Amino acid sequence: MTITATTLEGTRTNLNDADVESLRRSLRGELVVAGETQYEEARRVWNGNVDRRPALIVRCLGAADVQQAVNFARLFGLLVSVRGGGHSAPGYGTNDGGLVIDLSLMKGIRVDPDARTVSAQGGVLWRDLDHETQAFGLATTGGTVSNTGIVGLTLGGGLGWLMGKHGLSVDNVISADVVTADGQFRKASATDNPDLFWALRGGGGNFGVVTSLEYRLHPVTQVLGGMVIYPLDQARDLLRFYRDFGGTLPDEAEAYAALLTAPEGMPVAALILGYNGPIAEGEKVLAPARRFGKPVADVVGPMPYAARQRMLDEPNAIHGLQRYWRSAFTEQISDGLIDVMVEGASRFSSPMSALLFFHLHGAATRVSPTATAFAPRRAQWDFDAIGQWADGAESATHIAWVRALWTKLEPHLQGSAYVNHLAADDRPEKVRASFGENYGRLRALKAAYDPKNLFRVNANIAP
Ligand SMILES: Cc1cc2nc3c(=O)[nH]c(=O)nc-3n(C[C@H](O)[C@H](O)[C@H](O)COP(=O)(O)OP(=O)(O)OC[C@H]3O[C@@H](n4cnc5c(N)ncnc54)[C@H](O)[C@@H]3O)c2cc1C
Repeated sequence: MTITATTLEGTRTNLNDADVESLRRSLRGELVVAGETQYEEARRVWNGNVDRRPALIVRCLGAADVQQAVNFARLFGLLVSVRGGGHSAPGYGTNDGGLVIDLSLMKGIRVDPDARTVSAQGGVLWRDLDHETQAFGLATTGGTVSNTGIVGLTLGGGLGWLMGKHGLSVDNVISADVVTADGQFRKASATDNPDLFWALRGGGGNFGVVTSLEYRLHPVTQVLGGMVIYPLDQARDLLRFYRDFGGTLPDEAEAYAALLTAPEGMPVAALILGYNGPIAEGEKVLAPARRFGKPVADVVGPMPYAARQRMLDEPNAIHGLQRYWRSAFTEQISDGLIDVMVEGASRFSSPMSALLFFHLHGAATRVSPTATAFAPRRAQWDFDAIGQWADGAESATHIAWVRALWTKLEPHLQGSAYVNHLAADDRPEKVRASFGENYGRLRALKAAYDPKNLFRVNANIAP
């Protein structure tokens, strides 16, 4: 049987049966092609709105399988996607007609409790990593939900509940094992391939397939976490309070803000609060946010760190939801931005949609912008307009809602974004601006490690 596949240039090529079977035999994992029993399940990614049909899915079990897949893709000039946790909202973990290097079966994790380090393979999700590290009362900065992949999230920077105190996920990476576009296995650390190590920490999936990451761990057990919820008619005052409150917070505290829909169906405003330190101290630091205005609910309290990591998983981050997402940084929350947000939230097209601020502060902002490839090292907010819905037949309506609102929001925001939150239809200038002052060096390293741009299904840095 001849398989027709998509090339890097977007043309079609025929792969002969003998070559495909030879790839299959070279693997410890499995090759899944269209028509095979596992294909429908294997082609799915987290975003249900991404419905693509790759020609070949290589389900790797180790670095040797990854090398085989990279070599096959390079030899036949195939379009390549790399998938870890599958959470990319634009669907970068898959493609139409090309080859997917799927690491989701690579789940190995080894904690060294004495050295306070953990090594974890490319298919590990944050909830898997937290499970193993929390057994020793340890953690490293992950995201704000537990089912994203550790590698995709880390390569873009890694914004999460511990970033004020312990820095971004990239700030905790000690080393990476990488298969580069030439099929070579390389270790990247401060002493091995230091330029590659620099580029991986913020440069996204541009530089190779990361088969394993080693992180520094910190003692983290009980934390304070939860939400305070207000009616939408208090949202303007609340967001004005929030922009000032953010500037007063110590590294241990986290405060994000959101406009969303309550389970009862009405739009509300919420402060999502946390404290990574002594609980009594956290109660004092967060008290002004809990005393503000007239909340309809206050569910902030002590909880194990792993519970906090899962707190927003349901219903916001369950597998198969449909999502379209626009994002940008802002150093100011202007009255104009607040007005557009509140007006937008009063007309959510779906009760699962949300407008959200993540706050970058503390340790995450004290690293030099050029020390790692993650350039936006300033106290600021990552702002997200998230359209989310369950029924694929409604996609056009909800995508149009986000796009229309975004045209009103955008003038109040910067022309750059967190690399992991860029949309597939963001302008190339915005993608470039998001790598900031590091773009030139990243581009030169891309030319050295991936001159043909084999890894291009991502926030791409063209060589
Ligand atoms: C519900 C939700 C919540 C999120 N919350 C946060 C958050 O709190 N903080 C935050 O920082 N981000 C967050 N994100 C964004 C997230 O960081 C990105 O979507 C990230 O790409 C997900 O990684 P993944 O491995 O799950 O994705 P995948 O779809 O598997 O991969 C996405 C891209 O990452 C790269 N990649 C993945 N694995 C590898 C690998 N092994 N080697 C090389 N490249 C690889 C590739 O370019 C790939 O195309 C969230 C996303 C969603 C959908």
